[in-house]
Amino acid sequence: MLYEPSRKRLSLGIVGGGIGGVALAVALSRDPGLEVSLFEAAPRFSEIGAGVSFGPNAVQAIRLLALEAPYRRIADASPAPFEDVWFEWRRGSDDSYLTASLAPGCGQSSVHRADFLDAIVAHLPDGIAQFGKRCIDVQQEASGARAYFDDGTAFTGDILIGFDGIKSAVREHVLPPTQHRGLEPFWSGTYAYRGMIPVRQLEAAMETRGVNQRLAVVPQMYLGHDRHILTFPVKHSELINVVAFLTDRSTPTPTLAEGEAWVNAVTQAELRGVFDGWGAASQAILSCIPEPTRWALHELPALPRYQRDRVLIVGDAAHAMLPHQGAGAGQALEDAYVLASLLTDDACTRHNARQVLAAFEAVRHARACRVQRTSHEAGDLYEYRAPGIGDDGVRLAAELETRFDWLWNHDLRDDVAAARARLGWEPAAHPALS
Ligand SMILES: Cc1cc2nc3c(=O)[nH]c(=O)nc-3n(C[C@H](O)[C@H](O)[C@H](O)COP(=O)(O)OP(=O)(O)OC[C@H]3O[C@@H](n4cnc5c(N)ncnc54)[C@H](O)[C@@H]3O)c2cc1C
Repeated sequence: MLYEPSRKRLSLGIVGGGIGGVALAVALSRDPGLEVSLFEAAPRFSEIGAGVSFGPNAVQAIRLLALEAPYRRIADASPAPFEDVWFEWRRGSDDSYLTASLAPGCGQSSVHRADFLDAIVAHLPDGIAQFGKRCIDVQQEASGARAYFDDGTAFTGDILIGFDGIKSAVREHVLPPTQHRGLEPFWSGTYAYRGMIPVRQLEAAMETRGVNQRLAVVPQMYLGHDRHILTFPVKHSELINVVAFLTDRSTPTPTLAEGEAWVNAVTQAELRGVFDGWGAASQAILSCIPEPTRWALHELPALPRYQRDRVLIVGDAAHAMLPHQGAGAGQALEDAYVLASLLTDDACTRHNARQVLAAFEAVRHARACRVQRTSHEAGDLYEYRAPGIGDDGVRLAAELETRFDWLWNHDLRDDVAAARARLGWEPAAHPALS
């Protein structure tokens, strides 16, 4: 492979145009010293019609990526006087209140996924994104990394970033399955039933059942044995995003039925059957979801590394996790900010690209693995299976009030500073990107 280096300081290819890949591409495209190309398998950018919620750490990443203004225009917050409430926690059996998790100054910050992707895509200059480019192989030599696509084309650059989600093709190059067994995505045993409800419809259904309508708009979690339900508003509280979870813990290695797709349309009767006997609020919610979809939630084990020479995997490609802390997209945005901070520095060149990617991995790996592990454990907690806590209301409340602090109160600028120190670079004067 003969690679003719770009005339710019560095040329980069990003594989995958989801929330993480687009945020990274926007940040990198602001640096005139970089030649950036984004390759997306789909014919256009697209996200599903569901909500995504961000903790204070993710909102900080959005701010540092200089995407706060478009985000604020579309983001929901908990209504006054519940501005700081991330979720209220209740027993699903009778709606009784357990406690609230508070994220001061942030609360529940949520958006409709498609709106968010549109909002950040609007900041991507023309000519960077290419569609219908499914990466099928990656190769590299000393001077460059090459991605091959299923349309017969290829891209070669100084660096290749795999932001291509849980089924990542780039991961197969970083961690070849022939050398690394057991690193493929696995089913967690949990199904997530998803739906979106017009807020007026949900308020009416709650009123009919004697439930305080406040529960429709203030984010709620209803807990129970091996199942739980969450709700939060999106689209300026026009819609309520619902996810209802059911977990099979009968075996340590749950497997999907032969040929079962990860996502299926199911009946309302199936969903209601799962929560048979639950309280009035849950019944009101489920009665408003005529056509639920059922997602078999997969996750990755903690990977031993994210980098191989000039190639790096990030976001779900590197650390796909269960959604129980609302943290997966947040980790993708954290990755995007820390990586962009390093790659947009003039000190980063094609000659030290490997060291820069290694410094990124060194400062991000432990945190990403911890978020993965604690996201899995959070599901056990919400479903009365946490060791020493179970369904004990006092212990549940104590745990839920504090367990997210380490995740939310993480200053990403410290990650950048730590990576710069590893590289022997001067501390950054202006850590926010612009
Ligand atoms: C039910 C559920 C609820 C969730 N709720 C939250 C939440 O509230 N908060 C939160 O922070 N996270 C949440 N998440 C997790 C979040 O959705 C993911 O962590 C996030 O979307 C990961 O972003 P990404 O850009 O890394 O990958 P993705 O969003 O998966 O994007 C990958 C992109 O790469 C493209 N692609 C894939 N393969 C290739 C290829 N070979 N070549 C080229 N392109 C390719 C895909 O088409 C896609 O556009 C939830 C997940 C689920 C399942």
